[in-house]
This record gives sequence, structure tokens and C-alpha cells, in this order.
Amino acid sequence: MPSTVIYWVRRDFRLTDNSALHAAASQAAQVIPVHVLSQWRGEHDWTGAKRQQFLCGCIASMAKNLEAIGSRLILRAGLAVDELEKLARETQAEAIHFNAVPDPFGKAMETRVQAMCERLGIACVSHQDVVLHGANEVLTGDGRPYRVFTPYARNWLALPKAAALPRVRSLGPAAAASISSLALPTLEHWALSLPGEVQLLQAGERAAQQRMQAFISGGGLSNYGTHRDLPAGGHNSSLSQDLRFGLVGIRELYHCCQAVAQAMPSTASSVLTFTKELAWREFYMALLHFHPRVLETNFNADFDNVEWPGSDAHFEAWATARTGFPIVDAGMRQLLATGLMHNRVRMIVAMFLTKDLHCHWLRGEQFFHQHLLDAEIASNNGGWQWSAGTGADAAPYFRIQNPWTQTQRFDAEGRYIRQWLPELAGVATERFFEPPKDGRTLAPGYPLPIVEHGAERARTLARFKIGRG
Ligand code: FAD
Repeated sequence: MPSTVIYWVRRDFRLTDNSALHAAASQAAQVIPVHVLSQWRGEHDWTGAKRQQFLCGCIASMAKNLEAIGSRLILRAGLAVDELEKLARETQAEAIHFNAVPDPFGKAMETRVQAMCERLGIACVSHQDVVLHGANEVLTGDGRPYRVFTPYARNWLALPKAAALPRVRSLGPAAAASISSLALPTLEHWALSLPGEVQLLQAGERAAQQRMQAFISGGGLSNYGTHRDLPAGGHNSSLSQDLRFGLVGIRELYHCCQAVAQAMPSTASSVLTFTKELAWREFYMALLHFHPRVLETNFNADFDNVEWPGSDAHFEAWATARTGFPIVDAGMRQLLATGLMHNRVRMIVAMFLTKDLHCHWLRGEQFFHQHLLDAEIASNNGGWQWSAGTGADAAPYFRIQNPWTQTQRFDAEGRYIRQWLPELAGVATERFFEPPKDGRTLAPGYPLPIVEHGAERARTLARFKIGRG
């Protein structure tokens, strides 16, 4: 049995159902957990203050949970491969365990860590943890990746799922005091600050467990099939940021849901609908794995010549919730205030940006990345390309959602709009279902619609027709 191994904490801030941590703990006398703070600011702008704040909460709760079992989280900053090498040398570690991540940037770092371990002559052990099924496990009969969700999901659902892993209770002695560690980070580490009015969810494993249990036992899961498209009332699980930061294990979530379906057969259809959403998450990760070019270009090359003549002024109106389309502005306000947005509304605002304002989906994808707590490279890209009509399994380009009728269908009482646009609290609900006929704004200071949906729909159909040749 190796005496000391390193557990590299990446996007898996929990002690329960954690593959790499569980394996390290059962294979070594001492496990040294380390998290390396990225220097993302210099490299890209794909995150922002809200997500980094949530990350700070995840790190703090992980540090506390590790302390409670007699361990110590080592915090370093810089390039992960360099910091891991230093730590391996300082601790004489015989192995580095980590959970594999599903994006090209994380995978590139894994390759460098693997090479470094080979150079040092120590073991480098990658574990599957983020997904129930890795990209290479769900393939067509002739061994190729799926390009369409429905057959992928059928295959994914039928595969046996690994059991959840027990909570780790001990990691052996804590790292010696001579092993240096940074203080818990704050936003200052990235030279960021939060605007005053944000309302972030509580980070940490315990808070995420509470959200999961509330969804499973509080009726959310059993009504999911009928209520999931309604943005008001909190019918969905609100677990996306917890899956993103590994505050809950995907195996545990999956099996808890199946247990409900088994105990109450009347909930089986809702549980299946929910489980298929977990499959969407893995479908998009598999697409990104096999087609990393989607981060720069359309999945469907048929649309590569489509033009995106959207203006900066329109993009700005969308980004600041000033479009005059209440459902769009409510969604953007929710995003700016909480770092989250309901899935139905994400589809509406994404289609509005790409099909009513004609801005390229890459701009929306980047903006979401900067603001979402749950920003998941694969799901965000997949969601944007689906909405723009350029993706795998996309809504056909000629199916363009009308924000007014979408409001009537999914926010029929205007509750979501009034929650996020309190200045419209006194407006009659029917006025949310069509543009103002009298040319007057819905409330003082609230803008008139910046475009006319019918005319922009026609422009988009023409753009796509010309672009497709
Ligand atoms: P629930 O409805 O309770 O679903 C349960 C879980 O299933 C979610 O937590 C999520 O992990 C997964 N899931 C649900 N719907 C989808 C979907 N369409 N695609 C992939 N996974 C799904 N989801 C992200 O996690 N990160 C993103 O960056 C992201 N960006 C998106 C961008 C656009 C334009 C669109 C249309 C969707 C995006 N989604 C993204 C998918 C979806 O909107 C969120 O997962 C969902 O709103 C999170 O809320 P929830 O946890 O309450 O979801």
C-alpha cells in the first residue's frame, strides 16, 4: 500500500460518492487533498464574479469537511501541473488521483499531469466521476458516436449504472505543517467584486444535499414531468451548479431518483423525464468530446455561411434586460441577479438573441459563461447551438419561438415576469402576451419592444435560406 498519495480536487468538492477521493482513501495510508486556484483572468474571460464567489464557497466548505475528518486541504495557485509536481516532491507522494473533467481544457491539463507523473516515476490515476457514462461507453451499433439525442438516450438509459460510493471517513494524518497552503480565497484573488444586488445560492456539499433532498422528497421530482417547463414556482431541481461543482454525486442523484420511482410507480414517468435531462447533460459532453471544434464553429456545417448581422446596440439591450419583451428581460434579470435562469427561459432568450436580434450564438454563449453559476462548457454550447438552429438535434431553423406566445403558454399568470420585473407588478397579465397595441410602454421607464417579432422571424428565415445555399 503506498504511504502517501495526492488527491487533486478539481470540480468535485464533496466527500460522498467521489470516485477519486474514495479510491485514494482506500489505497493509501495518507491522502493529501490539494486544489489549485486557476489564474483564469490572464487566459480567457469565461467566468465572472458570481461563479467565482460560488467557487469560493465550495472551497471553504470542502476545507471544513476535510478538517472534520482530520485532514487538511492544501491550496495553491498557478498552473496545476507545476503545483502538483512541487507538492509531489515535497510530500514524496507515490501517486496522484483525480476525477477526469469533460472539456478540452481540463483534458489538456490531464495530459500534462500524466507526462509529469511519468517523469517523476509516480502513478497518475484518472477516475470517471462527472458522468454516469463516459463518451466512449455510449456508441452506435457500429461503434460510432451518436449525432442525435433520442437514440443516444435510449442506449444511455439501458446501460447498467454504477452504484454510489460511500462517504469517505478518514484520509489518514493531515499534511505536515511544513507543507504550505494559501488562505481560503476571496474574490480579490481574481481582482473581482460582486455588484450589491446579487442573490447567490448557498455553496457547499451540505447545502447541495439539502437541495437534492428537497427536490426528491418535496414533490418536485414527482411533478417534474408536468411542471418542468413552468419558470415560476421552483418546480425544477436547481441542481445544475451542484453537478457543475461536484457538490452532489451523479450516481447518488440517479439512484435516489430511481428509488422514488420504484417505491411510487405513479412517479415513474416524471422520474424518467428527469433522468433524460441527466442524459442530455452527458449527450452534450459526448458531443464536445468527439467534436471539440463546436466551441468555435457550428456543429452543423450546412449553416456556416449564414450571416449574423446583429448590432452591438441590440446585444447590449438584451444583455441589460432592456428589450421591451417582458419574458426576455425577466430571464436576463434572473441571470444577472442569481447566476441562474430557468431552462425554458434560457431557450427563449437564446432564440431571441439569435433569431430576433440576429446576433451570433457565440456572443450569447460567452455572456452566459460569464454570468452562469452552472456554466458547463458542453451544455452551454449545446443549448446555444440548439437554440440558434446550428447544433446537433437542433430545433429546425424554421421553428422560431414567439416570445409572446411562449409567455402565454409557460407564464400564463405572469408570475415569473412580475417576480423579476417588479416595475411591471401592476400591469394586466394579458399585456404580457402581445406587443403594446397603443404604442405606450407597459410602465414608466420600461422600454417599448426593440423589434417586431414577425418581421425579424421573416428576416431569419431569409438569412438561413440564403446561407444554406
Ligand atoms: P432540471 O430541470 O432540474 O434538470 C436536472 C439536471 O439535468 C440539470 O441540473 C442539468 O444538469 C441537466 N439538464 C437539464 N436540462 C438540460 C439541458 N437542456 N442540457 C443539458 N443538461 C440539462 N445547463 C448547465 O448545467 N450549464 C449550462 O451552462 C447550461 N447552459 C444552457 C444554455 C442554454 C442556451 C440552454 C437553452 C440551456 C442550458 N443549460 C445549461 C441547460 C438547462 O437550462 C439547465 O441545466 C437547467 O436550467 C438547470 O436547472 P435545474 O438544475 O433546475 O434543471
